[in-house]
Amino acid sequence: MSGAILPGSLVNGQPATLGVMGGGQLGRMFVHAAQAMGYYTAVLDPDPASPAGRVSHHHIQTDYLDEQGLAQLMQRCSAITTEFENVPAPALLTLGAHRFVAPGADAVAIAQDRAAEKAHFVKCGVPVAPHAVIETEAQLAAVEENLLPGILKTARLGYDGKGQVRVKTRAELVAAWAGLKQVPCVLEKMLPLKDECSVIVARSGTGQIVHFPVQRNLHREGILAVTEVHVGVLDAALAQQAVSAAHAIAEGLQYVGVLCVEFFVLAGGQLVVNEIAPRPHNSGHYTLDACDQSQFDLQVRTLAGLPLTQPRQHSPAIMLNLLGDLWPESGSESNSCPPWDKVLALPGTHLHLYGKLSARPGRKMGHLNITGATPEAVRATALQACALLGIEPF
Ligand code: ADP
Ligand code: MG
Repeated sequence: MSGAILPGSLVNGQPATLGVMGGGQLGRMFVHAAQAMGYYTAVLDPDPASPAGRVSHHHIQTDYLDEQGLAQLMQRCSAITTEFENVPAPALLTLGAHRFVAPGADAVAIAQDRAAEKAHFVKCGVPVAPHAVIETEAQLAAVEENLLPGILKTARLGYDGKGQVRVKTRAELVAAWAGLKQVPCVLEKMLPLKDECSVIVARSGTGQIVHFPVQRNLHREGILAVTEVHVGVLDAALAQQAVSAAHAIAEGLQYVGVLCVEFFVLAGGQLVVNEIAPRPHNSGHYTLDACDQSQFDLQVRTLAGLPLTQPRQHSPAIMLNLLGDLWPESGSESNSCPPWDKVLALPGTHLHLYGKLSARPGRKMGHLNITGATPEAVRATALQACALLGIEPF
């Protein structure tokens, strides 16, 4: 890209506009950050009620591969990003031929495929879980005994624990692969986890790279439930290792944009990379209230070709995910909601709702960030919020 797209400038007589493929909550928070800085925004998402589409200057309501939709997005925007990793590769290639697109189609293609992703980690010299790629009957038969018990994961389209089956025996593995319609899969050895953590890095088109502090994540039923970030939440040497690995992975992809790298911490203390997301990540939502720049601010900067400066966390933080399960009569057309008035009476609480009208179990409706002067104070408030909302304490 030649030169930055300056906020508030005119490009061919139109206000400088940044585009995003996908209209979910990550797109919505990107739109908020871009607009705060003075950009116009355009969202492409077929859903008329999409969280990002509703708050954007322009909302193009077509399928992701619709040629007219893509043409409109390009006509409106100087640069385009994505908010979900399953944007069809041909759409990114079409856009990339005419506009600056970050992250690029190559990096997104690797993140879309667990087998390619693992091969990239190995190439970068970062430890991964013992695993085998299963695309054929022969590969299934050749799976080594020491990968069991394991988790069979579809190579593509999995998220929030979907597309995964836990298998203890070879017979279960065979049945599970048949159950997944024999699509390409990766079998991973089940590892004894002490912790999970993630690192968010941003890399610019000129190769500048910055990162947020390492965050500790608690998952429940395959979905992120709690993120905790403060000095001492993880062993310092381990955190440094995670940051170095995340830098190596981003460099290796010549990545431009915001990238999240998820890790397992094993019972013995070793760090193993799990997967990457080529976009801001749920585990980075605390940055909205606890850091001097958020992960979405950095997504805007990398897309617009603006300089990056190392973000600074100014408060210890805990993020609680707000799933549809917390809504009274979740799944029905009820208009009652959780007791936000009581939650917001607690100090340092920041409520973010994504504008989704119907709550369903497991659906990400919003998140609650809690900041405070000390980790102990933040934790005490978080536990009070959990009690009010009916979230299991942690
Ligand atoms: P998703 O794309 O759904 O986030 P992940 O591969 O990150 O899929 O798996 C979701 C969760 O399942 C992880 O965060 C972790 O808690 C658990 N998990 C996944 N793989 C393993 C493994 N090999 N060993 C132990 N737990 C695992
Ligand atoms: Mg994951």
